[in-house]
Amino acid sequence: MNARVTALARDCGADGAVVLKTSAVVQNRACLDMCSQNACGAYGNCWMCPPDAGDIETLMGLVRSYRYAVVFQIVRGLEDCFDIESMGKAGEELNLLARRIRREASAFLSECLVLGAGGCRVCKPCAKVQNRPCPYPTEALLSLEACGVDVYQTVKNTSLKYNNGPNTVTFFGMVLFN
Ligand code: SF4
Repeated sequence: MNARVTALARDCGADGAVVLKTSAVVQNRACLDMCSQNACGAYGNCWMCPPDAGDIETLMGLVRSYRYAVVFQIVRGLEDCFDIESMGKAGEELNLLARRIRREASAFLSECLVLGAGGCRVCKPCAKVQNRPCPYPTEALLSLEACGVDVYQTVKNTSLKYNNGPNTVTFFGMVLFN
């Protein structure tokens, strides 16, 4: 099953994917402190992001309730390090990929949790901005950060590079399953 989920991530468009035991996924509740600085603008403005996504200890426990994690990544080029537009597009692309993986994995995994990068990004803006209920709960995507996953520490001993060089941006997602 591990190889099948890794292959699915690659077939759906990931540039790289590795499987880990969930015990090797590094979690840190300090992610919540980073999110609360709101560099991405999603904190308090997205049902799938802190503080509205749920209690971080509960979400960290949800990750640990699965046995395996496939970490996948996309790497995209930037014009320069100020190319915010391309960074945003790459983040959207990662979350589209994550939702595609989730759809296709549902054909052979009875249960899985797929995490994306940053805000949910299905609606622009998220219905949270107007305090309305989420209209697409089955499409909504939790982020790695909301679940306290420390991506840098998690991938540093794998074949995936956290940083793929100058004028690139790398985004990560994760499939958790048993
Ligand atoms: S699906 Fe839309 S409303 Fe629901 S969490 Fe995602 S962005 Fe927000």
